[in-house]
Amino acid sequence: MCSSSASTSPEQLTVLTSETYAETLPSYSEVVKDDSNYHLPDEYVDIEQFITTKVGAFGGRIRKIWPPDLQGRYTFEISGSYRYCENVQRNHKQNKIYFIVDPIKKTYIQKCHDSECYRFQSTLKHIDNDPRTLPNSRENNSK
Ligand SMILES: [Zn+2]
Repeated sequence: MCSSSASTSPEQLTVLTSETYAETLPSYSEVVKDDSNYHLPDEYVDIEQFITTKVGAFGGRIRKIWPPDLQGRYTFEISGSYRYCENVQRNHKQNKIYFIVDPIKKTYIQKCHDSECYRFQSTLKHIDNDPRTLPNSRENNSK
Protein backbone atom coordinates (compact mmCIF):
# COMPACT_ATOMS: atom_id res chain seq x y z
CA MET A 1 0.00 0.00 0.00
CA CYS A 2 1.25 3.42 -0.83
CA SER A 3 -0.06 6.00 1.61
CA SER A 4 2.19 8.98 2.02
CA SER A 5 -0.52 11.63 2.27
CA ALA A 6 0.01 12.34 5.98
CA SER A 7 3.77 12.69 5.82
CA THR A 8 3.83 16.46 5.23
CA SER A 9 4.22 18.46 8.43
CA PRO A 10 1.80 21.37 9.02
CA GLU A 11 4.67 23.88 8.87
CA GLN A 12 5.86 22.70 5.48
CA LEU A 13 2.33 22.68 4.19
CA THR A 14 1.72 26.32 5.13
CA VAL A 15 4.86 27.56 3.38
CA LEU A 16 4.15 25.45 0.34
CA THR A 17 0.55 26.64 0.10
CA SER A 18 1.32 30.35 0.36
CA GLU A 19 4.09 30.14 -2.26
CA THR A 20 1.87 28.23 -4.64
CA TYR A 21 -0.98 30.65 -4.12
CA ALA A 22 1.17 33.68 -4.81
CA GLU A 23 2.49 32.31 -8.08
CA THR A 24 -0.62 30.78 -9.57
CA LEU A 25 -3.97 32.49 -9.34
CA PRO A 26 -6.90 30.10 -9.20
CA SER A 27 -8.72 29.76 -12.47
CA TYR A 28 -12.34 30.82 -12.72
CA SER A 29 -13.56 27.24 -12.71
CA GLU A 30 -11.65 26.53 -9.53
CA VAL A 31 -13.26 29.51 -7.82
CA VAL A 32 -16.71 28.36 -8.81
CA LYS A 33 -16.03 24.82 -7.70
CA ASP A 34 -14.78 26.08 -4.36
CA ASP A 35 -17.87 28.21 -3.91
CA SER A 36 -20.35 25.46 -4.60
CA ASN A 37 -18.68 23.35 -2.00
CA TYR A 38 -20.76 21.18 0.21
CA HIS A 39 -23.42 18.61 -0.55
CA LEU A 40 -25.88 16.83 1.65
CA PRO A 41 -24.98 13.28 2.68
CA ASP A 42 -26.03 10.58 0.24
CA GLU A 43 -29.14 9.62 2.20
CA TYR A 44 -30.48 13.16 1.68
CA VAL A 45 -29.66 13.46 -2.00
CA ASP A 46 -33.38 13.60 -2.81
CA ILE A 47 -33.76 16.59 -0.48
CA GLU A 48 -31.00 18.46 -2.26
CA GLN A 49 -32.58 17.51 -5.57
CA PHE A 50 -35.90 18.86 -4.36
CA ILE A 51 -34.42 22.30 -3.68
CA THR A 52 -32.43 22.25 -6.93
CA THR A 53 -35.60 21.49 -8.87
CA LYS A 54 -37.69 24.00 -6.96
CA VAL A 55 -35.39 26.96 -7.56
CA GLY A 56 -34.24 25.73 -10.97
CA ALA A 57 -37.77 26.08 -12.31
CA PHE A 58 -37.38 29.85 -11.80
CA GLY A 59 -33.79 30.21 -12.95
CA GLY A 60 -32.24 29.83 -9.52
CA ARG A 61 -29.56 27.54 -8.26
CA ILE A 62 -27.99 26.49 -5.00
CA ARG A 63 -25.01 28.78 -4.43
CA LYS A 64 -23.85 27.20 -1.21
CA ILE A 65 -24.95 24.67 1.34
CA TRP A 66 -23.77 25.34 4.85
CA PRO A 67 -22.98 22.37 7.09
CA PRO A 68 -25.73 21.43 9.57
CA ASP A 69 -26.45 23.43 12.69
CA LEU A 70 -26.98 21.91 16.12
CA GLN A 71 -30.46 20.75 15.13
CA GLY A 72 -29.13 19.12 11.98
CA ARG A 73 -30.59 21.75 9.67
CA TYR A 74 -28.76 22.84 6.54
CA THR A 75 -28.78 26.34 5.11
CA PHE A 76 -29.15 26.55 1.33
CA GLU A 77 -28.01 29.86 -0.12
CA ILE A 78 -29.83 30.52 -3.37
CA SER A 79 -28.57 32.59 -6.29
CA GLY A 80 -29.71 33.19 -9.85
CA SER A 81 -33.18 34.58 -10.48
CA TYR A 82 -34.99 32.76 -7.70
CA ARG A 83 -35.55 35.59 -5.23
CA TYR A 84 -39.14 35.07 -4.14
CA CYS A 85 -39.62 36.09 -0.54
CA GLU A 86 -42.75 35.07 1.29
CA ASN A 87 -42.47 38.08 3.60
CA VAL A 88 -42.94 40.65 0.84
CA GLN A 89 -44.88 38.24 -1.41
CA ARG A 90 -42.73 39.07 -4.42
CA ASN A 91 -39.21 38.73 -5.75
CA HIS A 92 -36.56 40.85 -4.13
CA LYS A 93 -34.67 42.93 -6.66
CA GLN A 94 -31.22 42.14 -5.35
CA ASN A 95 -31.26 40.47 -2.01
CA LYS A 96 -30.92 36.75 -2.01
CA ILE A 97 -33.14 34.34 -0.19
CA TYR A 98 -32.13 31.17 1.55
CA PHE A 99 -33.73 28.05 2.89
CA ILE A 100 -33.22 26.33 6.20
CA VAL A 101 -33.78 22.67 5.51
CA ASP A 102 -34.42 19.93 8.03
CA PRO A 103 -33.74 16.68 6.14
CA ILE A 104 -34.89 14.48 9.01
CA LYS A 105 -38.32 16.06 9.40
CA LYS A 106 -38.37 16.82 5.65
CA THR A 107 -39.35 20.41 6.22
CA TYR A 108 -37.90 23.76 5.29
CA ILE A 109 -38.43 27.44 5.86
CA GLN A 110 -37.47 30.38 3.68
CA LYS A 111 -35.60 33.39 4.99
CA CYS A 112 -33.84 36.23 3.23
CA HIS A 113 -30.94 38.65 3.45
CA ASP A 114 -33.02 41.81 3.03
CA SER A 115 -32.72 44.08 6.07
CA GLU A 116 -36.51 44.54 6.14
CA CYS A 117 -36.93 40.81 6.47
CA TYR A 118 -34.32 40.44 9.17
CA ARG A 119 -36.63 38.71 11.65
CA PHE A 120 -38.88 37.08 9.12
CA GLN A 121 -39.13 33.40 8.46
CA SER A 122 -41.70 31.73 6.28
CA THR A 123 -44.22 29.19 7.42
CA LEU A 124 -42.89 25.67 7.75
CA LYS A 125 -43.13 23.81 4.46
CA HIS A 126 -42.97 20.12 3.76
CA ILE A 127 -40.61 18.60 1.25
CA ASP A 128 -42.70 16.57 -1.11
CA ASN A 129 -40.68 14.02 -2.99
CA ASP A 130 -43.53 12.72 -5.03
CA PRO A 131 -41.89 12.49 -8.48
CA ARG A 132 -45.14 13.57 -10.15
CA THR A 133 -44.61 17.07 -8.75
CA LEU A 134 -41.17 17.38 -10.33
CA PRO A 135 -41.46 18.93 -13.80
CA ASN A 136 -38.45 17.12 -15.27
CA SER A 137 -39.05 13.68 -13.81
CA ARG A 138 -40.48 12.22 -17.01
CA GLU A 139 -37.47 13.18 -19.02
CA ASN A 140 -35.11 11.85 -16.39
CA ASN A 141 -36.91 8.54 -16.14
CA SER A 142 -37.22 7.85 -19.84
CA LYS A 143 -34.60 5.47 -21.15
ZN1 LIG B 1 -37.36 39.16 2.10
